Amino acid sequence: MKTCYHFLLTSSLIGLSILFPGVSHADTVSKPTVSEFCQEFSKKLRTVKYQGCMNFDLKTAELRSKENRLLTYREFKPDDPSNPAHNGRILFISGIHGDEYTAISITYLWMQAMLKHQYRSSQHWLFMPLANPDGLLGKNPATRMNANGVDLNRNFPSPDWDRWALKYWKHRYAKNPRRYPGPSAASENETKWMVEVIKKFRPDAIISVHAPYGLLDYDGPEYATPNKIGILKHRELGTFPGSLGRYAGEYLEIPVLTLELRAANSMPGEAEIVQMWQDIENWVQKQMPTLRARRSPEGTTALNAKPDQANSPQP
Ligand SMILES: [Zn+2]
Repeated sequence: MKTCYHFLLTSSLIGLSILFPGVSHADTVSKPTVSEFCQEFSKKLRTVKYQGCMNFDLKTAELRSKENRLLTYREFKPDDPSNPAHNGRILFISGIHGDEYTAISITYLWMQAMLKHQYRSSQHWLFMPLANPDGLLGKNPATRMNANGVDLNRNFPSPDWDRWALKYWKHRYAKNPRRYPGPSAASENETKWMVEVIKKFRPDAIISVHAPYGLLDYDGPEYATPNKIGILKHRELGTFPGSLGRYAGEYLEIPVLTLELRAANSMPGEAEIVQMWQDIENWVQKQMPTLRARRSPEGTTALNAKPDQANSPQP
């Protein structure tokens, strides 16, 4: 079934060179190495191998987690500079919740496949393999939240955050610590970093992986609604103050595809993992031209979206 990983198609163009200088901060603790990150990562998850992690040649943000872990990313760019058609940028975010082992593991496997066949892609991909390293690596067992006890998927700076995020948490979730949105919008380094990447990379679509609701959520224009990814069928989960869907999908108007795997601890079978990636690729190939066409070349339309375009939930 290896050939099934030949998911990436022809053509291409050199992707934009994106530099991430990061936000400077007065951090006197020495920066860990990628080797240390890969050692810790591979010890925690059976799927992740040290050498495989090293082979990604991961880049790192200036910002680090509270427990001084690296915030890492890897870009996969098409290598054909002669192709005038730039076919879009996809941001892939994994591990916003540290205790969703399968979501992080499956992303690692898909990144391995990308590494093998990267030049077949006509898109420019940017993967964040582990957006919440302290959540996965800081404690045993891992935690959904980061080391400050913040649910990063409630910490994005959606325009309604100040008005609703804490109220929503108190009333809707009865202060459930697993849904704590943080003291203020984008208070967390991990969130700041994701926001920075979204603004600089200007993705045409964002794909994120979670578990264990067993569905495919989508925030974006209706015509691009996916039917299914593998066995995951489309079902709206909705967005929340400070969630990635509310911030990027509704406010910035970047379509967000959220895969909710069926289990957080038990991986799908190999054939299913391959099928899911093929379905993701098919969705990207089919929808990217239209999704790109609706955005301005500089992506300024989305970045200048008015705050009052966001919906306000009832607390
Ligand atoms: Zn999650």
